[in-house]
Amino acid sequence: MNSFEFYNPTRLIFGKGQLEKLKREVGNYGKNVLLVYGGGSIKRAGLYDKVIGYLNEAGANITELAGVEPNPRLSTVHKGVDLCKTNNIDLILAVGGGSVLDCAKAIAVGAKYDGDMWDFAQRKAAPTDALPLGTVLTMAATGSEMNSGSVITNTETQEKLGWGSAYSFPAFSILDPENTYSLPKDQTVYGIVDMMSHVLEHYFHAEKNTDIQDGFCESILRGVIDAGPKLINDLQNFELRSTIMYAGTMALNGVVNMGYNGDWATHNIEHAVSAVYDIPHGGGLAILFPNWMQHNLKVNPARFAKLAVNVFNVDPTGKSDEEVANEGIQALRDFWTSIDAPSRLADYEIDDSQIDVMVDKAMKFGAFGNFNKLEAEDVRKIYSMSL
Ligand code: NAP
Ligand code: FE
Repeated sequence: MNSFEFYNPTRLIFGKGQLEKLKREVGNYGKNVLLVYGGGSIKRAGLYDKVIGYLNEAGANITELAGVEPNPRLSTVHKGVDLCKTNNIDLILAVGGGSVLDCAKAIAVGAKYDGDMWDFAQRKAAPTDALPLGTVLTMAATGSEMNSGSVITNTETQEKLGWGSAYSFPAFSILDPENTYSLPKDQTVYGIVDMMSHVLEHYFHAEKNTDIQDGFCESILRGVIDAGPKLINDLQNFELRSTIMYAGTMALNGVVNMGYNGDWATHNIEHAVSAVYDIPHGGGLAILFPNWMQHNLKVNPARFAKLAVNVFNVDPTGKSDEEVANEGIQALRDFWTSIDAPSRLADYEIDDSQIDVMVDKAMKFGAFGNFNKLEAEDVRKIYSMSL
């Protein structure tokens, strides 16, 4: 295990009816609130009215930034930063899925910076301060509700870049599984794929002595594999929505990966696809992850075999690690196919015409991946396998 320091400052408020805590939380930060949300799902679901009600009870002055895009755009971050600066904002409240939360994180650091927030995504500068951020999550997927990560798309340069800092954790996040009832089946599936991918990114690392952490990861994956298929046929089941919501948070809040760095190559490869084609993140991951696994199997077949046995119940008797590993990868493909996740780039009408562009984008910061360093040739192969 590596040395590590763990600090997660997000107050997690989880469960039915917990939205009422919004009044208490907002009261801790000041009156001027920037309410950030997406394309209207929160209005259709009635959540917007409830949030406004609690904000009014808290005596807040509300400024709104609506219309945050899935795969949130830098231009929207800029609008939010301007609103913070002109309205003397004390607290940013993000109500939505990962895109809304990620956008709000970028606004929070951008509001306390004289330059362009994009500098942080480009590693040209690092945040030194941020406005406080609260969130009300409506989609279980990214873990953004309890981590410091954010992914922003610059449509001018066709780049989608992840960034994070000690200043971009939410101060509080309210997770009521009922707020995910209105999430349609396809988005529910994308969320399931994304959270499983976060756990898989952790699972493939090069450290020793991580049996406890591996067990946490395996437990999350088994829980999602059990609850996910039931949930997509029963979208308003509280217990299933709760399990998936909790899994999404635990998959990427830093708890399961203390002492080692996961791989994270597949996320980088996916971001390059969504930068060019604007596809859903979870859809891209469902296509790419099994092919990343296939490409890297020989790096450490025993690691893949462990996953196959402990998560996908592959019987290892009389088989080599490589055989067991291959059965595990196939089981992952079969699982994602069984819940109607896409399996080929062709499902999004993506052909090989932009592969060079995507490879260049993925290689922006050089070779990447902590389980296995990928060079441009590897990335090209994984895209080709995924067509
Ligand atoms: P999302 O992009 O936030 O939302 C996808 C769609 O679902 C939107 O159209 C949204 O509609 C809708 N939606 C959300 N909640 C809903 C609800 N309760 N009912 C009905 N519709 C609902 O999806 P996401 O997967 O959570 O976020 C994806 C983004 O996060 C990507 O950019 C990805 O790269 C990034 N990401 C971040 C992290 C991280 O750690 N920060 C990790 C992985 C990925 P409205 O716009 O109308 O609300
Ligand atoms: Fe993700």
